Amino acid sequence: MKAETGLYICDGCLKEIRQGGLRYCVKIEGICAPDCAEQENGVTDIKKEIDFLIGQMKNTPECELISQVYSERYYDLCPRCYKNFFDGPLRNLHEKNNNR
Ligand SMILES: [Zn+2]
Repeated sequence: MKAETGLYICDGCLKEIRQGGLRYCVKIEGICAPDCAEQENGVTDIKKEIDFLIGQMKNTPECELISQVYSERYYDLCPRCYKNFFDGPLRNLHEKNNNR
């Protein structure tokens, strides 16, 4: 993130990235990829799929619907956090799921 001073702050360790220092920009996109409803012959039943989606959307706020379909995040990282991030981007999820 960019600080008021014009310098960047690492989104990982929250330390200032010195002027002229290496900074890595990481952009993450999440896009919903639902399974399609298929008929027995393998052909997609579009009407069934649309009815199902409309039923799911009825009581959901618009902003929540958008975030369910597409999410985007942007991070500024120092070299150390960048390396740690790419060494194991799903490490936190794995640890949380294994500590249930
Ligand atoms: Zn950092």
